[in-house]
Amino acid sequence: MLSVYIHIPFCVNKCPYCGFYSTQYNSHLADRFLAALDIEMKSRFRDLQDRQVGSIYIGGGTPSTLSLAQFSRLFDLVNEHVAAAADAEVTVEANPNTAAAGILALLKARGVTRLSIGVQSFADAVLISLGRAHSAGDALAAVRAARSAGFGTIGIDLMYGIPGQTEQQWHSTLESALSLELEHLSVYSLSLDEGSRLTQEARAGRVILPDDDNVARMYQTAARRLAEAGYRHYEISNFCIPGRECRHNSNYWDRGEYVGFGPGAWSFIGNRRSSTIANVSEYIARMTNGINAAETTEVLDRGQAASETLLLGLRRATGIDLDHFGQQFGSAALDDLRKKILRLDGSGLYRIDHSRLSLTMRGFLLSNGALAALLP
Ligand code: SF4
Repeated sequence: MLSVYIHIPFCVNKCPYCGFYSTQYNSHLADRFLAALDIEMKSRFRDLQDRQVGSIYIGGGTPSTLSLAQFSRLFDLVNEHVAAAADAEVTVEANPNTAAAGILALLKARGVTRLSIGVQSFADAVLISLGRAHSAGDALAAVRAARSAGFGTIGIDLMYGIPGQTEQQWHSTLESALSLELEHLSVYSLSLDEGSRLTQEARAGRVILPDDDNVARMYQTAARRLAEAGYRHYEISNFCIPGRECRHNSNYWDRGEYVGFGPGAWSFIGNRRSSTIANVSEYIARMTNGINAAETTEVLDRGQAASETLLLGLRRATGIDLDHFGQQFGSAALDDLRKKILRLDGSGLYRIDHSRLSLTMRGFLLSNGALAALLP
């Protein structure tokens, strides 16, 4: 399946923990960005004309900073350039303070099938500590407004391991999320992204992060509580009502092909991974002058492809098929993997069911070490 990602590089303001590329929204810059996006989509889809697209993901940044007219223009570009399958999944990310009723109605009318709302927490104190530009009340109102606008698949992101966050606050956040009867929840631990303000503060000792045991308990609480409520823990950080997995992200974990547009977007086509320059002004200049906007390009060799298959595939609860792994990468790679699994027998990190290898709950919890131990 081919997926399309479109990076909208604008936010209301920069959250101190964020490592994604974005800049402050400005209407004139957003108009110029959309004109550049038109040029990029036209040129790159020339080579992908016969490929049908199974999922489209409009992320960022904060796509919902765009005005109604700009969103309309964006969907016109998608319709013009992307050969989407009739049942394509179309996701848009929104933030609680920018998901106005008019925007939600437009997204619904233009065929968006999933809304992903960046809630992070339902505790105001935690939102302040994260530097988020919305309150818990805004988040609840945004989810309810999305439901009223007719969205049948709504997901939210929640975050734990935040400075000052208590286990009680995390528990209450999970209960608030459950009360909304959402179809999808992404539950991430706060990560220290290179270049973010929070990372600098933590390294300078001005911000104290919760200890590892505390963070692990929050993850386990989420996994247990969401499972009790009927959610399927289908990927290390993702939970859904059965059948409502995110198709777009599942394609990433399957090492499916995707083409990314906009500054800072990544593409993966035919074993070649590339990124587009993460600077909106430079992106606009290059597109306007007919210059390639790629920043990095890497063709993966067989060993890198095998490592990625393990790193991505084992993020999913269903894991990977060992026989298929052997067919893809050869019997020597499979033997090497089997030896590593054998050496870790008794660690409780993995399970093998018929020919499928997957991480256990303990493996999910210790995923960095569990995955690294299996790499070629
Ligand atoms: S976390 Fe989201 S809203 Fe905050 S700066 Fe990053 S992309 Fe923007």
